[in-house]
Amino acid sequence: MSDYDVVIIGAGMVGSAAACRLASDGLRVALIEARLPDLNLDDNYIDLRVSAVSRGSQVLLRQLGAWRLIEPRFRSPFRVMRVWDAQVAPRAAEVLEFDSAEIGEPDIGHIVENRRIVAALHGVIADSDAVELIAPAVATDIGLGDDHVTVTLDNGLQLRARLLIGADGARSPTREQTGIETEGWSYHQKGVVTHVRTSRPHNETAWQRFLPTGPIALLPLYDGRSSIVWSTTEDEAQRLLALDEATFNREITKATDGALGDVIDSDKRAAFPLQLLHAKQYTRPRLALVGDAAHAIHPLAGQGVNLGFADVRHLADALTAGDPGDHVGLRRYERKAKSENLVMMGTLDALHRLFTSEQPVLSRLRSAGLGLVNRVTPVKQLLIRRALGH
Ligand SMILES: Cc1cc2nc3c(=O)[nH]c(=O)nc-3n(C[C@H](O)[C@H](O)[C@H](O)COP(=O)(O)OP(=O)(O)OC[C@H]3O[C@@H](n4cnc5c(N)ncnc54)[C@H](O)[C@@H]3O)c2cc1C
Repeated sequence: MSDYDVVIIGAGMVGSAAACRLASDGLRVALIEARLPDLNLDDNYIDLRVSAVSRGSQVLLRQLGAWRLIEPRFRSPFRVMRVWDAQVAPRAAEVLEFDSAEIGEPDIGHIVENRRIVAALHGVIADSDAVELIAPAVATDIGLGDDHVTVTLDNGLQLRARLLIGADGARSPTREQTGIETEGWSYHQKGVVTHVRTSRPHNETAWQRFLPTGPIALLPLYDGRSSIVWSTTEDEAQRLLALDEATFNREITKATDGALGDVIDSDKRAAFPLQLLHAKQYTRPRLALVGDAAHAIHPLAGQGVNLGFADVRHLADALTAGDPGDHVGLRRYERKAKSENLVMMGTLDALHRLFTSEQPVLSRLRSAGLGLVNRVTPVKQLLIRRALGH
């Protein structure tokens, strides 16, 4: 039996950030991961899985020492965000534009490959005496006791700690094994992702156009291309995945209304199911869930991993000194993280419903709303600050 202060299951972006943060607070951490992380980063391609890292998340990664391990050439800043509605005639359509300069910030965030974020965090972990990465390994049994938790791994190891953190993604086996129920629904949609080269430069701008079937986003990449996240119905996603490249490129040009001119070429494609999923509890005695294990949201607004990083901050700030698994600290974390996440989840879900409605009245209201927000400086500044993760 090996003893730790904290055992974390899942060494993705959120679990790895939690390990670094708690280690920097002086705790001894075991980090369990089912897959061996790929730390041999090939610079010849940009992986399809990228995240819009908000300035708030950037601050956390910097504090952990991970941001400097992502070379600046692999961080693609975006300074402007443009949002508009496809269901309104082009001349009547109002464009909502956020510019970081309006609030005196250098950028709104950065687009970074998920694998580079994980590799940077693992670089910090490799240099830490306080974190032990155990991979590949899977927890086969979890025992939550009054003053400690025991975790048995498939390699026979037994670990004991005062706190267990489930950071094992949306299908979280930790959440299932500890009987925490979830609520939510599938959007019966998929997010089709690819990278595209366009005839006009992206000018460090993120674009989002709302189509009746869901939003299509263009996020600026460091090699001049843009990453596409096209949320659409399952049937439409299947159709898009099957198209030949020239037709697919034309469809993207049309769906983005030529915002960056013509799509010249596109990378390989993948599609992910979209769902809203929320754990009914984030904590149990001696257990906390963080990241997608606690909440999975629509990629609209690209907030998924940012909410997970915010969980890490809230959890580390809430834990009771002396006993990290003490229920008073865990309750404090649950109250803070849940209330913030519910607001974000509710807002994104409402936006999704509002923008996928084809009712003409709603359509006019939407466009008027975008225009109004664009003109009312305090509201706009509030939204920019929110996007920045402040
Ligand atoms: C199409 C799409 C686009 C997105 N775009 C954005 C974006 O622009 N910005 C953004 O912020 N978010 C985005 N997201 C969401 C983001 O990818 C997730 O929120 C994020 O990956 C969650 O990180 P995580 O560490 O909580 O979970 P995960 O990344 O799922 O990591 C969980 C880890 O746990 C491990 N694991 C699982 N089970 C076990 C087990 N039993 N034992 C040990 N280890 C285990 C897994 O191997 C994995 O490494 C997007 C999502 C989708 C689908």
